[in-house]
Amino acid sequence: MKVPENHFPLSLSPAYLNRKDKFAGADMITFDNVSFAYHSLRGETRAVSHLSFRVEPKSFVSMVGPSGCGKSTILSLIAGILSPQEGEIRYDSEKKPVIGYMLQKDHLFYWRTIWQNCLLGPEIQKTVDENTKTRLAELLKEYGLWEFRDKKPQELSGGMRQRAALIRTLILNPELLLLDEPFSALDFQTRLRVSDDIAHIIREQDKTAILITHDLQEAISLGDRVLVLSSRPARLIRDMPIRLTKSGNDLLSARNAPEFNGYFNMLWEDLKEETDNERNL
Ligand code: ADP
Ligand code: MG
Repeated sequence: MKVPENHFPLSLSPAYLNRKDKFAGADMITFDNVSFAYHSLRGETRAVSHLSFRVEPKSFVSMVGPSGCGKSTILSLIAGILSPQEGEIRYDSEKKPVIGYMLQKDHLFYWRTIWQNCLLGPEIQKTVDENTKTRLAELLKEYGLWEFRDKKPQELSGGMRQRAALIRTLILNPELLLLDEPFSALDFQTRLRVSDDIAHIIREQDKTAILITHDLQEAISLGDRVLVLSSRPARLIRDMPIRLTKSGNDLLSARNAPEFNGYFNMLWEDLKEETDNERNL
């Protein structure tokens, strides 16, 4: 019997151990004592404070923290939209990895079909060729959107639109995906299915991913690690590896793993303490 690949914690999975990519053994991103503050006429807002962590290639890192603590700022720093004022962000390879962003809103254009929406990036980059189209067709078929390629986004369900948004990102072949609360606009049922779907796709495609979420269950069930951030300015208060003994490959088996509640309670306490501290300021 073939044991399903993601039955294993990622770091023990055969694909992970056998990988021969150029990053093997190294970190993809290193945050070294990074601080950042916004400056405006109203003064300074410190958003990130002395933050250090590493992200291994092909790992899936969840990030949780109180609302407004600086999570989106961290992704902007990784994407290079902002630069650290203190400390350093290093990439393992000489050049920065190709980065794909996925946000809460799918940002699909309503006047374009799903096919046209997914080709937007390559169109902008002027790299549309037969190759791109073949790959797009493969992605759409593999992830259940082929029959919907000529539909407009508003004709699709929320979950399908998020999948289309992910494919639009994947067609640009990013090495690193930054996911900023991409599921929070979805209702609970859809959210469970879509987050599971998207995590599978990301693993199958061998990407590195950083997921910001305020849903602790989502953080634990999807991540190889959960980074817990303090209230603003964001500091790292816990870096927790997740090892779940799963009975299957479906979305509920992670949540039903015997270790799940222990992780959940620990994160819950961490965040409760943070928000309590903030209230007492
Ligand atoms: P999170 O994503 O964790 O909710 P953000 O990273 O978006 O938090 O924001 C962190 C803090 O920085 C917040 O207090 C927010 O109001 C402030 N902030 C975010 N963007 C800007 C900006 N462009 N100018 C000034 N302050 C900002
Ligand atoms: Mg945010």
